[in-house]
Amino acid sequence: MKISGIPLWGWMAAAALYVGVAAAAVEFAWDRSIDALVEIGAHRLDLYAASLGSELGRYEMMPSIVARQESVRALLSAMPHPPAGLLQTVNTYLDAVNREAGSVAVDVIDQHGLVVAASNWNRPESFVGTNVSYRPYFQDALAHGSGRFFGIGTNTGMPGLYFASAVREDGGPIGATAVKVSVDALESAWRVPGVAAMVIDSNGVIVISTVPAWKFTSLRPITAQQQRQIQASRQYAGRSVEALPHRRLGDWDTSAWFARFPDWGRPGHERRYLAMSRTAPQAGDSIMILLDVSSARRQQQIALAFVTGGFLIIGLYCLYAIQRRRAIAEKLRAQDALRRANDRLEITVRERTAALTQANERMREEIVERTRTEQLLRDSQQEVVHAGKLAVLGQMAAGLTHELNQPLVAIKTLCDNARTFFERNQPAPAIGNLERISRLVDSMAILTSELKTFARKPEFERVAVSLNEAVAHAVLIYEARIRDEQVQLDVLIPAGTTICAEPSQLQQVIVNLLGNALDAVADQDKRVIAIEASRTERPSRVRFTVSDSGAGIAPEVLAHLFEPFVTTKPRGRGLGLGLAITSRLVDGFGARISAANRPNGGAQFTIEFSVATEQEAANGR
Ligand code: ADP
Repeated sequence: MKISGIPLWGWMAAAALYVGVAAAAVEFAWDRSIDALVEIGAHRLDLYAASLGSELGRYEMMPSIVARQESVRALLSAMPHPPAGLLQTVNTYLDAVNREAGSVAVDVIDQHGLVVAASNWNRPESFVGTNVSYRPYFQDALAHGSGRFFGIGTNTGMPGLYFASAVREDGGPIGATAVKVSVDALESAWRVPGVAAMVIDSNGVIVISTVPAWKFTSLRPITAQQQRQIQASRQYAGRSVEALPHRRLGDWDTSAWFARFPDWGRPGHERRYLAMSRTAPQAGDSIMILLDVSSARRQQQIALAFVTGGFLIIGLYCLYAIQRRRAIAEKLRAQDALRRANDRLEITVRERTAALTQANERMREEIVERTRTEQLLRDSQQEVVHAGKLAVLGQMAAGLTHELNQPLVAIKTLCDNARTFFERNQPAPAIGNLERISRLVDSMAILTSELKTFARKPEFERVAVSLNEAVAHAVLIYEARIRDEQVQLDVLIPAGTTICAEPSQLQQVIVNLLGNALDAVADQDKRVIAIEASRTERPSRVRFTVSDSGAGIAPEVLAHLFEPFVTTKPRGRGLGLGLAITSRLVDGFGARISAANRPNGGAQFTIEFSVATEQEAANGR
């Protein structure tokens, strides 16, 4: 299976490669970003530790300096009944020092924990008169010389860091001095986007936090003993310490780990952070920072986008290259196919041209051959016409000889008789004989004139010819034979039937048809020949028929009747030219000849002549 010309395994390999590269890129981006974050975090921790150290260091020595002040020592020495002026002096001094140092308050505490003088002696929240013996910083100061403590002011309710120092007289403590420092400035200085910073005390309680809500919440479970101690020292001004819900997820390296904490930007949600911490003994226990890893996630998304974009570009380029290669291959194939088709076409054209040339050559040869044959045919037809004419002439000559012989014999007899009558001096019968001789000579002259007409050179001009006369002349030629053979000849031609033909040729046509009819009835018992003419239903046409009572046309001859040399007559009697000549002559008249056997026996030849036009009639005159 292929998609866009690439097999399925190709797509799957590309997808696997993409997944692999994307996973590696995302992992790499994550590692790099977290490494960078760890570096940033380390710097921040350094910075916070340094700022915390310097901030608190500023105040660390303050209680011991105040403790060395003569008026303070005098005041504590004079306790419990200090002179009023001295108290005022100390209060003023403390106020001045507090202002100078920028701390929250500076107190002087007697050895029973009672605050006897304070920088805020004249303000409502003043500590004067308050007993702080329960505070660990006081207890530590009396016991060890100095004390330190994170706590919430019981009067002010303000969180702060307490430093304390013992005031000694003759080697023993007679009281203590305490300085309370605010961490508000630190918190606001540490607040940067994407980072939560906090200071955790030895109880695991967050005492400084850039996230206000987390302040005085605990990261560790508070033990019962710790709880008692907290209650006793009123460290958090009686507040209950809640646990900050969080979970350690896994270490990144030795200095950083992932942890799930409440999202400080979105209350009610949790989020994964990169956590780092450092011990900070001067402030409590440790400084911890939480770093937002969304920048790493963004880096992952950017890396994924890069990889996806790169893959898309490379993939699209590959697809383009494949399509291009395929298109080029297709084009080449098409060109090849076209070339092959062209070659085939050329070959075919060459072959066809050669075949055509050959065919042309053959045709030219055939034309030459046909022309030669036509010429030959024309020559032989002319010869045939001529031969036919000769044959008819022969028949005519025989007929004439027969016709002329009888009158000549009669003339000889009449002449001999006339001479005898003259010798006997009988002129009347001699004159009668001479008159009969004259009539016989006239009829002989008619016969010879007929012969002259027939022998006349054929004229090809068509003229109006009287069909009646043409038939009469033909009948005259065969008169002796008709009479001798006792043939019944019925001529039924309306008087004045004029058709368009050439006179001598028309006569030859009728002589041929009549001769054939006489031949056909010769050996029949019933010898009837009918020559008829009538106007047809087609205007300007005359149907002319010669019918006989013969045996009819032989079936094998019928189809080739008008072809030359077709004959059933014995050698010497028929040449088979008569009908061929007849048909050609009839064609020349613009007429049509046909032959058929009649249903009641005998043959019938039909010619459809055109009726002569005025012009042809004029030509004929
Ligand atoms: P020929 O008379 O020399 O044979 P024709 O061309 O005149 O040549 O006639 C060809 C043949 O047609 C004849 O041999 C004969 O068989 C046939 N034919 C012509 N006229 C008739 C007819 N009236 N009756 C029967 N057969 C005929």
